[in-house]
Amino acid sequence: ARKRDGKNGMLVFDTSMLDSARERHEMEQNIEAALKEDWFEAYLQPIVSLGDGRIAGFEALMRLNHPEKGILSPAKIIGIAEENGSIARVGERVLEKAIGNLARLTQLEGADTTYLAINFSPLQFTETLPHKLAALLLKHHISPARIVIEITEAVLMLDNPDVHAVLKQLSEFGCRIALDDFGTGYSSLSYLNRFPVDIVKVDQSFTRSLSTGTADVRRKSRMLIKGIRTISHQMGCTVVAEGIETKEQWELLRKLGLDYGQGYLFSRPMPIENMLLMLEMESEVKATDCA
Ligand code: C2E
Ligand code: MG
Ligand code: MG
Ligand code: MG
Repeated sequence: ARKRDGKNGMLVFDTSMLDSARERHEMEQNIEAALKEDWFEAYLQPIVSLGDGRIAGFEALMRLNHPEKGILSPAKIIGIAEENGSIARVGERVLEKAIGNLARLTQLEGADTTYLAINFSPLQFTETLPHKLAALLLKHHISPARIVIEITEAVLMLDNPDVHAVLKQLSEFGCRIALDDFGTGYSSLSYLNRFPVDIVKVDQSFTRSLSTGTADVRRKSRMLIKGIRTISHQMGCTVVAEGIETKEQWELLRKLGLDYGQGYLFSRPMPIENMLLMLEMESEVKATDCA
């Protein structure tokens, strides 16, 4: 590719722009193919009670399972889908997959009361969402009380009255609202006041900072987490820690009074089939223990 300056009104571009344009185009094609060929999946990651390590719920995490390229992670997909508008269809497909998976989990003994947290892009909060969600739940005989809607501050920052109305409707319908990646970006504590938030998910960077850096940094991280925990609890929210990878982090977060946690220590996100197998094996182990 050539690179020219824009002095004469000529287009300025370089190889990296060309690469990213090609990459974008390729991803747009992946997305369309995935919708058509049914390659989108909702992986599941357990969310455990920090007190006893028992599974309280799961988070659904989007994966594009490409037959040749393998598993593609959400970060890039979502950005591009938001920009070209396909996020509405992608989001709806992943929502269907996620609710279908919850229905399958529900057939397992002991997993019939677990909740499912689903991530939503700001652009998905259209007035048709509550109806679509309600229809899916009805189809699978699932109570809205078992659904957690995960949003980031980006949703609230839109300050769009329609988005607020949809959130309020979902909340009144019985779903819970979780504020994801809390403590990063433009965190504003006032969101906890202005929106029907039930769950605060403390960003994984806090968990990481508990066990890296100087003693002073670690001490301050503990204070920050404790502060978020105290305010969240006083606002009536439960608190979930993200990104727990070590026993030490689990122990610290439990001592800091956080309610739930998720991370590779407990389980990586996995396809529903693997999750069902893992849960069945665990319950067999428990059954043998009792015998
Ligand atoms: P998130 O909602 O904050 O999800 C947590 C991310 O942390 C996931 O990355 C998960 O795989 C990863 N994770 C979990 N435990 C650990 C750990 O112990 N250590 C580390 N290093 N990472 C851990 P993933 O699956 O790549 O998703 C990235 C982000 O993409 C999500 O962040 C969420 O914002 C977005 N996302 C995922 N699925 C969807 C979806 O269906 N719709 C929308 N709109 N966004 C989604
Ligand atoms: Mg999330
Ligand atoms: Mg998160
Ligand atoms: Mg995150």
